[in-house]
Amino acid sequence: MFNFNMDCFSKRCVWVNGPVIVGAGPSGLAVGACLKEQGIPFVILERADCIASLWQKRTYDRLKLHLPKQFCQLPKLPFPQDYPEYPNKKQFVDYLESYASHFDINPQFNECVQSAQYDEACRLWRVHTISPDGTEVEYICQWLVVATGENAERVVPQIDGLQEFQGEIIHACDYKSGKIYQGKKVLVVGCGNSGMEVSLDLCNHNAQPSMVVRSAVHVLPREILGKSTFELAVLLMKWLPLWLVDKVLLICAWFILGNTNSYGLRRPIKGPLELKNTQGKTPVLDIGALERIRSGEIKVVPGINKFSKNNVELVNGEFLDIDAVVLATGYCSNVPYWLKENQMFSENGFPKSPFPHGWKGQAGLYAVGFTRRGLAGASSDAMNIAQDIGKVYKEDLLKKKQKVPTHRRCISTF
Ligand SMILES: Cc1cc2nc3c(=O)[nH]c(=O)nc-3n(C[C@H](O)[C@H](O)[C@H](O)COP(=O)(O)OP(=O)(O)OC[C@H]3O[C@@H](n4cnc5c(N)ncnc54)[C@H](O)[C@@H]3O)c2cc1C
Repeated sequence: MFNFNMDCFSKRCVWVNGPVIVGAGPSGLAVGACLKEQGIPFVILERADCIASLWQKRTYDRLKLHLPKQFCQLPKLPFPQDYPEYPNKKQFVDYLESYASHFDINPQFNECVQSAQYDEACRLWRVHTISPDGTEVEYICQWLVVATGENAERVVPQIDGLQEFQGEIIHACDYKSGKIYQGKKVLVVGCGNSGMEVSLDLCNHNAQPSMVVRSAVHVLPREILGKSTFELAVLLMKWLPLWLVDKVLLICAWFILGNTNSYGLRRPIKGPLELKNTQGKTPVLDIGALERIRSGEIKVVPGINKFSKNNVELVNGEFLDIDAVVLATGYCSNVPYWLKENQMFSENGFPKSPFPHGWKGQAGLYAVGFTRRGLAGASSDAMNIAQDIGKVYKEDLLKKKQKVPTHRRCISTF
């Protein structure tokens, strides 16, 4: 890293002799580890004050990995052997902390990337960050790795009257535990994995959750015949076409969970894997919420018409008195807000090319962790990216040794 002040501007300018990685979540750390192994220097820029901020600051206490550990470990360092099949949030964060220290990865914390743009004249990326104290820095680099995640920002839907509602309204990313909701009537908006788990947690703390289910959803058992459903699907996909695997999963789900339609959880027409592949919609892996729906402890209600002071009107005309609202309405990518580029990424902040081709763009631009395949997808991206950068980096190094002029020429013109 090469540091200097730009006289005409108050911001510091930093030349990075290697890639800049934006985001210190599991994806950014995985790329860092794979680069370290090849001896390639890099800088990780992270807006929060810690690694894996999604896991440390924006998830509920009872969270466990949804998928078995073998699908969630990062490259080059497996989970400790004594970890359970589904590590909890603390265990996962501990693993990530030890991963970062094992590979000596030290992100630049509290630096939020405001913009990143390729400078055609210099053939370099200019990455502009701002810190909470207002300090601005411009990083200049040959490679830019986008690792800001599929869940960078919360999605808050526009619902009539939501501002008028006088009880507490939080997004699921601020929900920690149902303890403070004991005895309260809570409306959980959304029925994905988060909505189901928040509702279950509320039940466990003697609150009275009502879960809004607006659209169709696939609920699958987390395990089938003692094997994780995800693992079984991966295995079956080796032999059978996707539509047939979907059929097998749905038959198993029917045997284990019964007819979910009868609880107000309509199944989509497309199968769970087809839906995941075409629309990125993740099926819900049931960890006990369905039992509570069956017993009536979690009430399933249809879409919302509008909120008023102390209650909510549903689309079926029913009114519910409620004390609090948890918006389990999902997340979105923030890439379009800061990356000034429209070739690799589409408007929704995901790479235009589907998996497994979405990791590489043009002019040294890469994306990790946007495969809609969780941590396993991120690991595969990370290894590809590090290998690709490594090849060019080593060629450049060889040229430098042979005294061929390098990009530094461009920096000195500032
Ligand atoms: C509740 C929940 C449970 C999940 N469970 C699983 C699971 O069991 N298995 C699985 O495989 N996946 C799971 N996921 C998916 C999850 O997205 C991945 O596990 C993982 O966190 C993705 O890592 P990432 O590094 O790509 O993104 P993130 O973990 O979101 O990390 C991105 C980082 O980038 C930073 N950042 C964002 N914007 C900027 C910016 N402009 N400048 C600087 N830094 C920025 C963020 O602060 C963050 O630290 C779960 C997700 C959620 C929400």
